Amino acid sequence: MKNANQPILPGSTLGVLGSGQLGRMFAMAARRMGYRVHTFSPDEDTPTGQVADVEVTAPYEDLDAVRKFASGVSVVTFEFENVLAETAAAAAECAPVRPSGHVLHTTQHRLREKTFLSQNGFPVTAFRRVTSTAELAQAAKEIGLPAILKSAGFGYDGKGQARIYSSADFESAWSSVGADEAVLEAFVDFEREVSVVAARSLTGDFVHYGTVENRHKNGILDLTIAPAAVPETVTRNAVEIARAILESLNVVGVLCVEFFLRKDGHLLVNELAPRPHNSGHFTFDANVTSQFEQQLRAVCALPLGSVFQHSPAAMANLLGDLWEPAEPDWAAVAAVPNVKLHLYGKSSARPGRKMGHLTALAVTTQQALADVTRARYALQPALTQT
Ligand code: AMP
Repeated sequence: MKNANQPILPGSTLGVLGSGQLGRMFAMAARRMGYRVHTFSPDEDTPTGQVADVEVTAPYEDLDAVRKFASGVSVVTFEFENVLAETAAAAAECAPVRPSGHVLHTTQHRLREKTFLSQNGFPVTAFRRVTSTAELAQAAKEIGLPAILKSAGFGYDGKGQARIYSSADFESAWSSVGADEAVLEAFVDFEREVSVVAARSLTGDFVHYGTVENRHKNGILDLTIAPAAVPETVTRNAVEIARAILESLNVVGVLCVEFFLRKDGHLLVNELAPRPHNSGHFTFDANVTSQFEQQLRAVCALPLGSVFQHSPAAMANLLGDLWEPAEPDWAAVAAVPNVKLHLYGKSSARPGRKMGHLTALAVTTQQALADVTRARYALQPALTQT
């Protein structure tokens, strides 16, 4: 392996494990700067593969294929955290993997992530490990109800979760989560949800995009408002927590910290995502350096770029539901001049599937939110939006 700390310069080839929209936007940033991109996943004609130079299709368990892939690139990064530890380790035999497999290992499993956070003094809601309905009953007694049961591993977008209001819900919650190991979390009566997308370089430099507000629907991100309308002290605290998390995990790359903001102004960390995040998509259009270019700079051992946001912004996800009863009206969205359309090249639209997003840029966040909501409504007036 080459000297791993040397800058990886334009013209080099970057490897992405995973092939979804995050890899696609990373590949776009990389290709704009003259890099080549190879992507690896079990799928074909993927969002990332469509804009990469090479799309490798093989199972993540095929470690020889992973080694061959990593041998052909200068650095390996990933666009989703559920990459197997063995896959990351096999890649690391042949190329630097950034962030490291250790970051993946900690953040791809809720229980490990929450244990890491609480053991390092980061604020999290009360939680218990649960492996049976009997343990669930005991845990509920200890942390109280309502509570949320979540599968311990490989969960995202609210999948593998069940709300528990009373002991009558124990059996159905346990079977609906369908995992051998789960986490019971105390329900947080939050005022709003915010996140901080941040990046750390190989030399320990840290940048962040401030706090943004996230609104979810059915456990899936629906809207992001940037910046969040929260007091300065909340942003300062959130950024300091994010900085400390990136440092203690020794992250090289982008990591998003999702928070619950309670009515008393107290922040609780909900979740970490060790990669560019849906709540940072607005940076593509609103900031000097997008979260995707920042990821590229970090993993290529380059200096980080300016995070200056030149305009208030709001982002609205486009889920597959919008494709019913008919293809969205793209011309209608083009008629809103301050809204940018992003589509991920996915061929089949299913309800709940992230197909694209819109970003509105305006003089105020309220205006950006109004414009992005109006633009999304124009795509499919048949669908009632709230
Ligand atoms: P997650 O996949 O864990 O981020 O959960 C998805 C969404 O469910 C979050 O963004 C919240 O809106 C909601 N949620 C998750 N955990 C809790 C909790 N402990 N208390 C209240 N709401 C929660």
